[in-house]
Amino acid sequence: MPCMRGVALVDRLPDGVTLVRAPNPGPMTLDGTNTWVLRPSGATAAVVIDPGPDDAGHLAAIAAHQPVSTILITHGHHDHVEGAARLSALLGGAPVRAADPAHCVGAPPLTAGTLVLAGLEIEVLPTPGHTRDSVCFRTADAVFSGDTILGRGTAVVAHPDGDLSSYLDSLTRLTAYESLLLPGHGPALGDCAAVARAYLAHRRDRLAQVKAAMVAGADTPGALVDAVYPDIDPAIRFAAEASARAQLDYLRRESQKPPEQLDPL
Ligand SMILES: [Zn+2]
Repeated sequence: MPCMRGVALVDRLPDGVTLVRAPNPGPMTLDGTNTWVLRPSGATAAVVIDPGPDDAGHLAAIAAHQPVSTILITHGHHDHVEGAARLSALLGGAPVRAADPAHCVGAPPLTAGTLVLAGLEIEVLPTPGHTRDSVCFRTADAVFSGDTILGRGTAVVAHPDGDLSSYLDSLTRLTAYESLLLPGHGPALGDCAAVARAYLAHRRDRLAQVKAAMVAGADTPGALVDAVYPDIDPAIRFAAEASARAQLDYLRRESQKPPEQLDPL
C-alpha cells in the first residue's frame, strides 16, 4: 500500500462518508478539491464539508445527496468556498457556516465547540495557520483537515493571512488525534496524529534550512526560495515565497522574544 512518510493511504472510507471530488486539479489543488458528504446511517439529512469551486456539475453532484442540513467551510480560500452560495440556493437555502462571517449564509459563524447536525456530533477545532480562519472538523471516525494538512505533500502558510507560529500550535494540537485524516486535497490518510508529527518535523527542518540560508546571506523571500527550494515548480513559486515570508516573520518575532520564551526550534 502506498504511504506518505510512513502513514498509510486509506482505500475505504468510513460508512456514511462520501467523497465528491471537484474537477479543479492543479499544482495547488492536487487532484482537485475534496468535498466531503457526511450522512450517518439512519440520518434524515447530510452535512457537506467544503462545497469547492462554483462548478455546475460538481455542485449538482453534491446536491444529489440532499436533503442537506448544513454546509460547513474549513477556510475561505476560493477553491473551498466559491460554490457555497450557489449550493445553498440549490439546496433550498441550506445554511453555510464558516469561521469567517463573510462566508456564512443564514447562520452564525463557527466557534470552538461541538455541533450536532443531522444527528452527527461534529467538533469544531480552530486551527489557524494556513489561513487565519482555518478550522478542522472532528467526528467519531475522522478529522477533516481542509488545507491545514493535505493528503500529499505539505501545506502552504499563506502569509500574511496565515502565520507560522499559529500553524505550529495547530499542528501540535492535531497530534492528539490518532484517527483517520480526510484532507481538503489528496487522498485520505490513516493517522492524523502521525501526519501532524511529520508536518511539524518538516517545518523544523525548513526553519533550520532558512536560518542557514540567512546566515549565508539570503535576506529576501525570493533569495530564500532560491536557496531552500532550488527545484521549485514556477507555477507554485508564489506559494513558496508566501511560506518564506511566513518563516522570516516567525524568525524575526522569535529573535525579539526574551530568552526564556524562545521556542526550541
Ligand atoms: Zn487553502
